[in-house]
Amino acid sequence: MIKKLRGMEDIFPGGKLDSRKFLKLADSCREVAEKYGFHYIETPILEETILFKRSVGESSDIVNKEMYHFLDRGGRDICLRPEGTAGVVRSFIENRLDRQGKVYRFWYFGPMFRYERPQKGRYRQFHQFGVESFGEGSVYEDIQTIGMAKEILEKLEIPYKLKINSLGCSQCAPTYRQKLLQFLESHREELCPDCQRRIETNPIRTLDCKNPSCQQILENAPKLQENLCSSCHSEFTQLKKGLEQLEIPFEVDSHLVRGLDYYTKTTFEFIGVGEGVGSQNAIVGGGRYDKLVEYLGGKPTPAVGFAIGIERILELLSPQKEREGVYLGALLEEGVPKLLEWAQKMRNNGEKVTINFQIKSLKSHLKSADKGGFKKVAIIGEEELKNDTIFEKEL
Ligand code: AMP
Repeated sequence: MIKKLRGMEDIFPGGKLDSRKFLKLADSCREVAEKYGFHYIETPILEETILFKRSVGESSDIVNKEMYHFLDRGGRDICLRPEGTAGVVRSFIENRLDRQGKVYRFWYFGPMFRYERPQKGRYRQFHQFGVESFGEGSVYEDIQTIGMAKEILEKLEIPYKLKINSLGCSQCAPTYRQKLLQFLESHREELCPDCQRRIETNPIRTLDCKNPSCQQILENAPKLQENLCSSCHSEFTQLKKGLEQLEIPFEVDSHLVRGLDYYTKTTFEFIGVGEGVGSQNAIVGGGRYDKLVEYLGGKPTPAVGFAIGIERILELLSPQKEREGVYLGALLEEGVPKLLEWAQKMRNNGEKVTINFQIKSLKSHLKSADKGGFKKVAIIGEEELKNDTIFEKEL
């Protein structure tokens, strides 16, 4: 038997990842995004590898270890996208939207690919729903964006915790980096080999190292939010105030970082809480990236966005309990030709109708309908056939 690749899942009704829940989840995300004035954008799943090297960063795990990249028949180095932002930014620039001086708000939905070690909540092919807003530098855009993610999670009844931080801007980030470097140098020997390497490649990434002993040492590291310039400081204060006004509970996590130069100011993460949440508990990751458009060759454009991990949320949704749809069946052979006709009538009335073409007793039909999770049973028997009626029963 030919099997699916490791870390890749089929999404089908009743499966581990239920396709009905999957679509409902996508619909909920889309509805909220459209309500906030975001419009759909679709970019190719395959892009040039260099795009991700530049935008996600050569020092990141994603680019270093996790990309599905290969040469195509023309010898081009291409890659299955590991995340959504890079492609959207490429498209924004390539289609010259950076030159319009307008605000653009996009949402996207689709599969992403990362060659990671599969486990609960971590797949090699997974889906993200994401939004990206271009051209609005106000911190209120950040608040609105976070509010949108919160609305999606609440719509789905997913309990969450929101963590926020500020990474500063090109004014204050370099000064902070120097301070952090000094601290790291003085603790070099105590850090894990990965963090020792990060001192050279990407010092800020030491802050979110998962190694417990590094975490303990970094407790005493200089804190980002205490080293912001006055403008970043006041924006961070506004952000916190704005979230309070929207009644969005949050905590400041000084170790929440992105670690690339074009990520600026606001950064945030929603983590799932409660039963069923495994070690992969991050469900939404986002923040501002005011330097990325320019970095990829576009006109300087402030931007902010987030991405939701669909599979992680699917795993947290309670199983579908609500009964749904109509089960339609016949008790005798002569009733079968009538089934399609009745189904059409009901479908024209907006009902979801599933026909069972097998002749069965009423009891047996009822049992099948109950097992199938239907809300209503409609049956054609001898009597109904004669009077051109239908027998209906709610389950
Ligand atoms: P990131 O692009 O790494 O910030 O991830 C954004 C969100 O995508 C995370 O919060 C997760 O919910 C989800 N995610 C990231 N990697 C995976 C993966 N390998 N499998 C499933 N979901 C993922």
